[in-house]
Amino acid sequence: MTDHTNADTLRTPIVAVLGHVDHGKTSLLDTIRGSAVSEGEAGAITQHIGATDIPLDTISGMAGELIDPTDFDLPGLLFIDTPGHHSFSTLRARGGALADIAVLVVDVNDGFQPQTEEAIDILRRTGTPFVVAANKVDTTPGWNPQEGEPIQRSLEAQSERAEAMLNENLYEIIGQLSDAGFSADLYWRVQDFQKNIGVVPLSALTGEGVPDLLTVLMGLSQRFMKEEMAIDVEGPGEGTVLEVKDERGFGATIDTVVYDGVIRNGDTIVVGGQNEPIVTEIRALLQPRPLEEIRTEKQFEKVAAVGAAAGVKIAAPDLDQAMAGAPVRVVRDRPLEDVIEEVKAELAEIEVETADNGVVVKADTLGSLEAMANALREAEVPILRAEVGDIAPRDIAVAETANQDEHKAILGFNVDLLANAESDLENADVKLFTNDVIYQLIEDYETYVEEKQRAQQ
Ligand code: GDP
Repeated sequence: MTDHTNADTLRTPIVAVLGHVDHGKTSLLDTIRGSAVSEGEAGAITQHIGATDIPLDTISGMAGELIDPTDFDLPGLLFIDTPGHHSFSTLRARGGALADIAVLVVDVNDGFQPQTEEAIDILRRTGTPFVVAANKVDTTPGWNPQEGEPIQRSLEAQSERAEAMLNENLYEIIGQLSDAGFSADLYWRVQDFQKNIGVVPLSALTGEGVPDLLTVLMGLSQRFMKEEMAIDVEGPGEGTVLEVKDERGFGATIDTVVYDGVIRNGDTIVVGGQNEPIVTEIRALLQPRPLEEIRTEKQFEKVAAVGAAAGVKIAAPDLDQAMAGAPVRVVRDRPLEDVIEEVKAELAEIEVETADNGVVVKADTLGSLEAMANALREAEVPILRAEVGDIAPRDIAVAETANQDEHKAILGFNVDLLANAESDLENADVKLFTNDVIYQLIEDYETYVEEKQRAQQ
């Protein structure tokens, strides 16, 4: 077993990638991982559960002249692997967003789109520092790729026509950011990244500008982590459940992002559960083997401990009732009762109002369940029961008890119908709606209700 704690005073910042669909979030994450792997030197990157850790020396290897690693006290950057608002706005840490900083990806040809606006709203609301990745610069007509060059120099090496076209698109985005209330500029013109949003032109396809993005993220997090986050990286571990998964040989396990302190094998932990907090003892802490090996054998390595920030799979008894989005707390140096109260208090912040009559709601994480409940309240749709998890036979039975026909419905956000519930659904007078976009899910339900009412008139 290896010890994966880090003794640095500043912990690795947690970075989320947001943006409109197809603007290149997944490609950007892949490219960051890929170029870090080909960098290949000391401390090659490690893919954790749900997150990818890029150490400082790998970033400095990629960024070349852009970065002086001695300027930084940060161990590197931890990217959450699930792109989109989903991982950002619905996964929380102590009531706030799980990520410390964010990358907003905008297709340089497309500019702001509905999900860009949504992401901006979330970033503003949570006060999260962010950088804009103006992606797909390579699609500029006449683009001449300049591998290994800082993006500013690469722009200068383009034909006048290409440079002018790209600049026009970039300034359109800067203008849209300004309309949204953010002062922004091309990143090399920004002096203070906390006052001004840096825009980094890049291509997730060619990799141009990606080292620049990492450099800007390092600079932004260095200041943010120093000023805003006094983190006790040695203390009892705190984390958020990303996913509850059955794993052969281990039973129910929780993929967890640890954002504070240290979690050790054998620790007693308290985890937010469906009915009450779960108190259990860690049987194994698991991380995927180094990236080279993942391709051939998808196996886990047992680690002795993980320090913030990192992703880890926790195997322990009784985790089958754990909820994605719920807090995980190590019990160390303080009474168990206090920790249980803390977990309860955090769960109580997530408000879901239910009524005696209404629809059944299922969602993949606690945060998304809350988001669903808020959206349904605005749409004046009452909720009979709301829970985290896939759709099970029990949900169908509950939905059937609704005494109004329009309420005999299940609204599932980002969840699946379990195989053992398929035949129940066929035989029941219950309508199932699933989607991974909240407003579409609610719209589909409302359309159904309207049609039903029209048919009855
Ligand atoms: P996501 O929905 O935001 O995760 O977007 P994807 O990463 O799946 O990208 C959407 C499409 O855009 C895919 O076909 C990508 O290959 C393409 N794409 C992403 N980044 C770039 C880029 O920098 N240049 C070009 N030419 N295409 C890109």
